[in-house]
Amino acid sequence: MSTIPHLINGERVSTSGRMADVFNPATGEVTAQVGLADRALLQQAIDSAKAAFPAWRNTPPAKRAQVFFRFKQLLEQNQDTIAKLISAEHGKTHEDAVGELRRGIENVEYATAAPELLKGEYSRNAGPNIDSWSDFQPVGVVAGITPFNFPAMVPLWMYPLAIACGNCFILKPSERDPSSTLLIAELLYEAGLPKGVLNVIHGDKEAVDGLIEAPDVKALSFVGSTPIAEYIYSEGTKRGKRVQALGGAKNHAVLMPDADLDNAVSALMGAAYGSCGERCMAISVAVCVGDQIADALVEKIVPEIQALKVGPGSCKGLDMGPLVTKAALEKVTGYVEDGVAAGATLVVDGRSLKVADHENGFFLGGCLFDNVSADMRIYKEEIFGPVLCIVRVDSLEAAMALINAHEYGNGTCIFTRDGEAGRLFCDEIEVGMVGVNVPLPVPVAYHSFGGWKRSLFGDLHAYGPDGVRFYTRRKTITQRWPQRATHEAAQFAFPSNG
Ligand code: NAD
Repeated sequence: MSTIPHLINGERVSTSGRMADVFNPATGEVTAQVGLADRALLQQAIDSAKAAFPAWRNTPPAKRAQVFFRFKQLLEQNQDTIAKLISAEHGKTHEDAVGELRRGIENVEYATAAPELLKGEYSRNAGPNIDSWSDFQPVGVVAGITPFNFPAMVPLWMYPLAIACGNCFILKPSERDPSSTLLIAELLYEAGLPKGVLNVIHGDKEAVDGLIEAPDVKALSFVGSTPIAEYIYSEGTKRGKRVQALGGAKNHAVLMPDADLDNAVSALMGAAYGSCGERCMAISVAVCVGDQIADALVEKIVPEIQALKVGPGSCKGLDMGPLVTKAALEKVTGYVEDGVAAGATLVVDGRSLKVADHENGFFLGGCLFDNVSADMRIYKEEIFGPVLCIVRVDSLEAAMALINAHEYGNGTCIFTRDGEAGRLFCDEIEVGMVGVNVPLPVPVAYHSFGGWKRSLFGDLHAYGPDGVRFYTRRKTITQRWPQRATHEAAQFAFPSNG
């Protein structure tokens, strides 16, 4: 049985203490073990990052950016290998794994703009003979804690930008699918990163608590479920750290009576069942305005759900792989049972799905519930599986009131041909990322990603311009070089230009 190592000071480090099993979700077999870091190992990573920081901070941004140009090339050259590792441990299809890597590479491209992003703001003659400028300096040693569902993309949301801004980074990826994350980090070293600037430690709560408590770790970026996001935000900020903690979601798609139904159905299929519903931006609720569009949706989408091609992510041309673990499978099937017991109509039941020669895989077919109401657990909670719920309402206002009352506010979208409805929706919906006829409105790398309400704790969104702000500290300098001949008397009134 192979053991997946940590990466400290640019070197692989294996440990023999506590371990976690890593599964192939398509077969249910344990394929490797991953060491879970203890406090001593974490300290090694922190020491390595701390030692690397002074030189990296002073490396010109344009030189730092060169590393990321080479990194992008290496990621592209290794795309297939990385995607295979993702599929083998996460279960998602090869094409979907390539897709997440490509979105991650877009964040690397953004990081190559570090010289432009960090050039600051300058005011000549802010006062007599006084110039003033804002400089964006790195925060120091910063850490990222990432979820299983995007083992390539979510770490790439964080450390390329953090490192390009001059910080040193400790990454604690998900212990469920760590291999692709590790390979990608090693490619950054191959691209020329100095030792210690990025460290990868695998682990669980013990490692995360160590990062929260370590005084040398100045900022924490977290992406994962809401209870852990809230915990990390509250414990981290209590200790004076910067924290951005992105949590879970329940994303609604509104179908207006005038929606282009064929396109809306295609969009919903991909957004609800892609990656087996294990995306924080997955659409898990279709809110139909009027019974006519709801009935038409059911008629069109049911055969498509029944025709989903489900199998091991290693096979090409599939729509959906397995869920990530047996526990995830049991959790999602538990929600299906709960929905039935609560009185929702289970129109498509994916529980009977069998994948030939993969009887022990964590597979579940697509499920569809109709007549779901806001008091049901399947509506209120994040299921994180291939389950779409239909809620029927009478008006756009009722649809928006429903969405605005939900505790999560990550993503949402509206399908309509009516610009007035689309504009009202964009203006008044209490959600951080909004699509109009776009089912997964994940912002491109030069915008920023984040939800509202209990989908994000902290002030700044992830990556893009907000990411630059998060990973830098503004220092504003006011400088005077008086003319030699002038002498100014002491001023006791507060200086101003007035
Ligand atoms: P998770 O919260 O279980 O784990 C996320 C990270 O936290 C992992 O690195 C894990 O090791 C660590 N962790 C787990 N338990 C911990 C504990 N008790 N204390 C400290 N750290 C702990 O999430 P997951 O199952 O890996 O990922 C799925 C969740 O992530 C979903 O809720 C999904 O919506 C969310 N997610 C959100 C976004 C977003 O951008 N908002 C993106 C991707 C995933």
